[in-house]
Amino acid sequence: MVSVIDKINSLKLEKRAFINGIYVDSITKNTIEKKSSADRRDLSGIAACNKNDVDIAVEHARKSFESGVWSDIDPQEKKQIMLKLADLMEKHSEELALLDTLETGRSYINYYRDSIPKAIEVVRYFAEAIDKIYDKAIPPRKNAFATITREPLGVVACITPWNDPLVPAMWKMAPALLMGNSVIMKPAEQSSLSMIRLAGLAKEAGIPNGVLNVITGYGEETGKELALHNDVDGVFFTGSSEVGKLIMQYAGQSNMKKVGLECGGKSAFIVSDKCTDLEVAARTLAKNVFYNQGQICSAPSRAILHEKIKDDFIKLLIKETDKYIPADPFLETSEVSCLVSSEQKSKVQAYIDEGKKAGFPFYQSPEGYKGGENISPVLFYDVDNSSKIAQEEIFGPVLSVITAKSTKHALEIANDTSYGLAGAVWTNDLDEAYQISRKLKAGIVHINSYGDDDNTVPFGGMKQSGIGKDKSIYAFDEYSELKTTWLRFDQK
Ligand code: NAD
Repeated sequence: MVSVIDKINSLKLEKRAFINGIYVDSITKNTIEKKSSADRRDLSGIAACNKNDVDIAVEHARKSFESGVWSDIDPQEKKQIMLKLADLMEKHSEELALLDTLETGRSYINYYRDSIPKAIEVVRYFAEAIDKIYDKAIPPRKNAFATITREPLGVVACITPWNDPLVPAMWKMAPALLMGNSVIMKPAEQSSLSMIRLAGLAKEAGIPNGVLNVITGYGEETGKELALHNDVDGVFFTGSSEVGKLIMQYAGQSNMKKVGLECGGKSAFIVSDKCTDLEVAARTLAKNVFYNQGQICSAPSRAILHEKIKDDFIKLLIKETDKYIPADPFLETSEVSCLVSSEQKSKVQAYIDEGKKAGFPFYQSPEGYKGGENISPVLFYDVDNSSKIAQEEIFGPVLSVITAKSTKHALEIANDTSYGLAGAVWTNDLDEAYQISRKLKAGIVHINSYGDDDNTVPFGGMKQSGIGKDKSIYAFDEYSELKTTWLRFDQK
């Protein structure tokens, strides 16, 4: 049997940007310099595009949009092309998973079994939906009639993160394309290879030249130029809240383009004294907070425990934590592997040092895989919610456990954060579950569960976790604007 590492070594890596249907170097020939966090091999050479490259990509996207080659075709035709793209992604799913593993150090099997199939499912969901949604008409008058239609924005830029390279990218790209926009994708500099490869598959599926472009490079240069561009009609961003705020500023400094933001989180996992299955709750918490080394925007990184169940719960949690010790990303048995880079490792370690310095008791699992950049899971308990480790998004395998005197107190702690992405309440009291789920300020609240939502429901944050929604039929609204057409009949 060919090993994962042998498969990776035999891959031909395309590292150029994709503009107007062809792969191109950046004009300056500058490239991104980096090492794989999976095994520290050199991965430099991905095109680092600058303002001139961005200008060219936007020009082609604009021309393709105005030509109607994509924006004017029927939904059914777009659907067939996007379904073909999903089929091609499926055919190449092993390759896409290998590329993402190589660049981000997350376990191969995790990409192959979970993330890539999810990304394919997203494309299929939106493709299947596009010829089933309706626009609106007003109740007809005697001599007038009006329609309210969703019109594409025009040229749409999507700036995406590295923690799950293709899933958030498809949440944006698929509805944006299906609404008839021409799209420029800007993947994170840490994880560009799978998106570059996908552009070639999109061309093979029949997406016309200029309609889908992939422009690679550093955020502060390539991403900023896209968000500042006067001929980009909408910028849709997934990433940190810090950069999300910059994106809003760039839109304001340029053409007031439409902005969508999916940002960070510090989600609360409340366990009430009325939760009778602490074992399942502890298992679910550990799985969701330590999955992908905690590099998940909606990770429940604050556990808020009722004081009556706290000690029992922590004992269960410690047992679960050891299931997430980092292992070799290239082994088909490894569920959890590496952080994305040595920079990310230093950032996470600084938070762990901060928690230790603050004197919070902690448990850390034994060390795991030594061939790449990773950190064994840590849980701090008796944490003060106002501390740095409880307030800031660490984006690593670090859980803050906070004690609450009552469920009301737990809710206050849960909402005492600048973020509002996700949350959970575990209780067997239906009334308590309902009240907390209503009052928790988060875009998604799970009751006695976590993270098992699908494409049919919206996802997106409140407060500084973002503006707008990914997923579900509502996502089409993000990549379009409403137009009223008023028809008057009695002109005599
Ligand atoms: P990041 O904000 O550093 O970068 C995200 C993207 O923005 C990258 O493509 C980057 O190149 C680009 N970028 C960086 N600086 C820029 C600038 N000045 N102008 C324009 N673009 C710029 O985030 P990250 O480290 O790649 O990803 C981790 C973050 O993403 C976490 O905060 C996580 O919570 C968040 N995230 C949110 C969701 C969600 O759906 N809410 C999903 C995944 C990740």
